Amino acid sequence: MKTQIVVVGGGAGGLELVSRLGASFDRKLFDIVLVDLNQTHIWKPLLHEVAAGALDANLDEVGYRSHAFRWGYRYFDGRLESIDREARQIVIAPIMDDNGAEIVARHRIRFDYLVLAVGSVSNDFRTPGVKDHCIFLDDRSQADRFRQRLLNHCLRVSRTLSVDPSAKAYVSVSIVGGGATGVELAAELYNAAAALRYYGLETFDESRLKVTLIEAGPRILPALPEKLADGARKELEALGVRVLSGMPVVEVTEEGVRTKDGEFIQADLRVWAAGVKGPEFLREIGGLETNRNDQIVVRPTLQTTVDDRIFAIGDCCHCVLEEGGRPIPPRAQAAHQMATTAFKNLQLLVAGKPLVPFAYRDHGSLISLSRFSTVGSLMGNLVGGRLAIEGRIARIVYVSLYRMHLVAIHGWLKGSVMIVVGHVNQVIRPKLKLH
Ligand SMILES: Cc1cc2nc3c(=O)[nH]c(=O)nc-3n(C[C@H](O)[C@H](O)[C@H](O)COP(=O)(O)OP(=O)(O)OC[C@H]3O[C@@H](n4cnc5c(N)ncnc54)[C@H](O)[C@@H]3O)c2cc1C
Repeated sequence: MKTQIVVVGGGAGGLELVSRLGASFDRKLFDIVLVDLNQTHIWKPLLHEVAAGALDANLDEVGYRSHAFRWGYRYFDGRLESIDREARQIVIAPIMDDNGAEIVARHRIRFDYLVLAVGSVSNDFRTPGVKDHCIFLDDRSQADRFRQRLLNHCLRVSRTLSVDPSAKAYVSVSIVGGGATGVELAAELYNAAAALRYYGLETFDESRLKVTLIEAGPRILPALPEKLADGARKELEALGVRVLSGMPVVEVTEEGVRTKDGEFIQADLRVWAAGVKGPEFLREIGGLETNRNDQIVVRPTLQTTVDDRIFAIGDCCHCVLEEGGRPIPPRAQAAHQMATTAFKNLQLLVAGKPLVPFAYRDHGSLISLSRFSTVGSLMGNLVGGRLAIEGRIARIVYVSLYRMHLVAIHGWLKGSVMIVVGHVNQVIRPKLKLH
């Protein structure tokens, strides 16, 4: 029987990992298997652009079936439910159709080695009303839902204004969480609103948008140096965003959000982007050690603390490299680097050699304020510590993270073609996805 390496989750980390495993491991001896609950992959940092309509996800998504054929791994559609460590099998939930009829019954997939790369979900910190009245940007379907609702509200306001141009009609959006996701979405919404008038909503423009960005901490973008975060705040305010910091949200209703100091902010759309945690089904899954955020605790080799054959990478793992150190942050660059280490360590493990520890290189943080600006800081020896960058150079570095992902999952040739196609699409395709 072939040695079976199973990767669950084909996201920023998992898809890069199976591509490398499929390309490198001898197919006569190894079966590489990817399990994902979706049939297509979209790089998660693009989701705020999908939500605002600035990006058509149909053009950027990757179908797992064709990708698997090209890279020499097998893809199974399914949702990981539990792990039977003794039998070395994972349990996949039944697959149902839209009407609730069972297509594939609950089943098991055996593994010799298992890598969990299932990402994260938004953390609502048990704030009342968030689950029922907020949209999260955890996956493509949620981003699509947000875009559809946004367009409906824009249409409503546009119709009101065509009947009565002096009407006080607005689309109000509250975004909770002043990290990268919240800030990038706020800016992207103004970009989208400005473009709408060219696509049939003649009476609508960005002055009809009221966006409030609410952050519990003392300032937005805590991962950036204060000066840059301040610059980003000013840029957002110049666009029209109301930025509130030091303002925890205590409740969300279908009408808006309430802050700790008692203010109620009316909002047609409420987005929760205030931090992430591991998905709940991971809690003590298969007897593995998890932290209080439902992330799987791993050793520096990225192996789980209780099972040498099971690894976890990316947002779903809790990885601290030195005692008392900070956990590796849930970022695409960390998932990318962990995929590289997991690949090396799987090679070493099957060869019976000692594994290498993961070393995280923080290349910095870059925030795209849509077409208006890009700010951030680069880290590393090359730039002598931390270097604040803005404008065109920052934009180029920001975009290069996605380009690295494209090259990692498609190879140099196809990856480069995809980058060129992306440029062509920017010129020939509509600036907004309106359906
Ligand atoms: C709007 C937004 C902007 C961001 N911007 C940046 C940025 O600029 N820079 C940066 O470094 N990071 C950014 N991030 C964070 C980054 O997207 C994540 O850190 C990264 O995607 C994590 O990679 P991952 O492989 O761990 O998980 P993911 O990329 O989330 O992939 C997880 C995969 O697991 C699958 N899955 C989940 N549950 C199951 C299950 N039960 N069974 C089977 N499959 C399952 C999912 O379908 C998905 O394909 C951003 C995130 C968001 C939401």
